[in-house]
Amino acid sequence: ESVIVAIDGPSGTGKSSTSKAVAAELGLSYLDTGAQYRAITWWMLTNGVDVDDPAAVATVCDKPVIASGTDPLAPTISVDGADASGPIRTRDVTSKVSAVSAVPEVRARITELQRTIAGAAEKGIVVEGRDIGTTVLPGADLKIFLTASPEARAARRSGELKGKEASDVESTREALIKRDAADSSRKTSPLAKADDAVEVDTTDLTLKQVIECVVALVEE
Ligand code: C5P
Repeated sequence: ESVIVAIDGPSGTGKSSTSKAVAAELGLSYLDTGAQYRAITWWMLTNGVDVDDPAAVATVCDKPVIASGTDPLAPTISVDGADASGPIRTRDVTSKVSAVSAVPEVRARITELQRTIAGAAEKGIVVEGRDIGTTVLPGADLKIFLTASPEARAARRSGELKGKEASDVESTREALIKRDAADSSRKTSPLAKADDAVEVDTTDLTLKQVIECVVALVEE
């Protein structure tokens, strides 16, 4: 039978690396829901939509065709048929994605897409995000909520940037805290731990340890 795993938590907790590795190890599909919100944000920015105007965002949010490839070893994201994996990681998109993803019409649309993808995964799927256990897939077989200290999260995120300096680490930390605060305080399905989620604090764990922990929980 198919198994659905929801992995939520703030940025820099190792969500993506963990989710991909767990899916690969268990032969499941993988969906990065943050990439979908980034993709719609990128489309808005490149099409001149004022992303700080929720009404403007709501009006056009059905337009872009967003497609996700769910192979954990080679996940893909495209917008209107074009690969968007590079542009969705830019600072511009990162700084605007919380505003776009707070718009209820955007969430309704992306949530529907996520449920369709999860329902189509034959063997099952690992879905990572902020509201998967609470809103998107409340019936998931296993819900994980990853946490880590702000310092650990900023250090991990900075480690992903090239040619980092102390100032980069500090600005990364500030941007990350700001984004988590926005994601946690929005009215529609904020970043939150589901009551029945297992919380895993990754601050003092290696990635390998987190993966082993989650795999063990799935196999329980
Ligand atoms: O996971 P990632 O950092 O790529 O997510 C980017 C942004 O997408 C988050 O900061 C949040 O605003 C939004 N997001 C969301 N709901 C999800 C996943 C991501 O609102 N399930």
